[in-house]
Amino acid sequence: MFRSDCCSGMLKGNEDMGNVWIDGVGEISLVRSQRARRITLTVRPTGLVRLTVPCGVSRARALAFAETKVAWIASARQRVAARQAAVPPLPPEAERERIEELRRAARVDLPPRVERIARMFGFSYGRITIRASRTKWGSCSFRNDLSLSLYLMALPERLRDYVIVHELCHTVHHDHSPRFHALVDRCLGGQERVLDRELKSYVIRR
Ligand SMILES: [Zn+2]
Repeated sequence: MFRSDCCSGMLKGNEDMGNVWIDGVGEISLVRSQRARRITLTVRPTGLVRLTVPCGVSRARALAFAETKVAWIASARQRVAARQAAVPPLPPEAERERIEELRRAARVDLPPRVERIARMFGFSYGRITIRASRTKWGSCSFRNDLSLSLYLMALPERLRDYVIVHELCHTVHHDHSPRFHALVDRCLGGQERVLDRELKSYVIRR
């Protein structure tokens, strides 16, 4: 006989077990995982908490585990929030000053950085425009002009380089095809996925 809440009949991967309220934490989502070996808690970049429950572990036991981790969840949320806020909000006047400061830094840093990376891999590009874009880190036009967000200056250098490599590869492939990603990955020594995951943990403004 199978336990009613176990993985019999699951094809593969994860099964949504719904949400549960935990005092001091709020709502958390429960996921049954065929692959998991232990009960794990993860705090998503949005602050949402996910409890992963391996096969054979009851819902009640998983929840009891989560309830002992309330303090851990609070500090994990703080860590995620600190890492995420690439540019934490400021009052309007201070915000204008910061934009000007980032713009000056970007003008000094970004064009030579693009040039150095382009030369390293043999890319050629048109003009570079630096904008206060909050929605995109960068873009590349069909004429191979690059537009870069001045907020790149709030990122660690490896992520700044990653965005530039990504945009420069668009001078060769103007799409997000497998060929494009293969080129990006080659330029980054096989680190595209890792860097992309890291970049996605940042937003310009939450
Ligand atoms: Zn792209």
